[in-house]
Amino acid sequence: MILVLLGPPGAGKGTQANLLAKKRSLVQLSTGDMLRAAVAAGTPLGRKAGAIMERGELVPDDVVIGLIAERLDQKDSGGGYILDGFPRTIAQAEALDHLLAERGTTLDKVIEMKVDDDALVERITGRFACAKCGEGYHDLYKLPKRAGVCDRCGSTEFVRRKDDNEEVVRARLKAYYAQTEPLIGHYRKQGKLRAVDGMADINLVQKAINQALDTP
Ligand code: AMP
Repeated sequence: MILVLLGPPGAGKGTQANLLAKKRSLVQLSTGDMLRAAVAAGTPLGRKAGAIMERGELVPDDVVIGLIAERLDQKDSGGGYILDGFPRTIAQAEALDHLLAERGTTLDKVIEMKVDDDALVERITGRFACAKCGEGYHDLYKLPKRAGVCDRCGSTEFVRRKDDNEEVVRARLKAYYAQTEPLIGHYRKQGKLRAVDGMADINLVQKAINQALDTP
């Protein structure tokens, strides 16, 4: 099964992709995570992408398409892929269709996570994660049970994404509405789009996504 999770920053794509990947033995492919790894490693690509990401703009299509193409050729797909944060432009969506066709496969479904715009900034600016295991937290909605200690691994170090501040979030939302939202129409035309309410509780959203995947 090959899926795309579509929605603005803060919609919960990463959280839901992570849960789905575990449940359905799928590989989660996040271009944001790949780019952040390149930034952390200080590769030439990372240096170029880092500055763009800090402004909340989109990295050029050829760069992310190249990353995904390379990744699709690694033979660890298990039961398939969940693409989280890719595609983000019509050119990327067309390239994805092409890459999959070349590999004799096709996209099964696109899940659109619908969220209330006003909630997004609050959701994003409050989020942080364990530096060691990546468990996600939020200043308002999900603090560690013991202050300063990760529930999952016991680490006491936490990180916040550099681009999760209000000014950059606004730029990221602008990029989403200008460049990514048109993908909704693209996938609706292909008959692959299914929408879920992304404002509900994490487990309810997961249930709705699974229902959408299990219904033809
Ligand atoms: P994300 O973790 O998906 O929110 O992505 C963080 C940042 O990485 C975005 O604001 C973009 O600058 C960049 N990025 C991630 N995925 C893509 C993509 N598919 N196309 C262009 N830029 C991307």
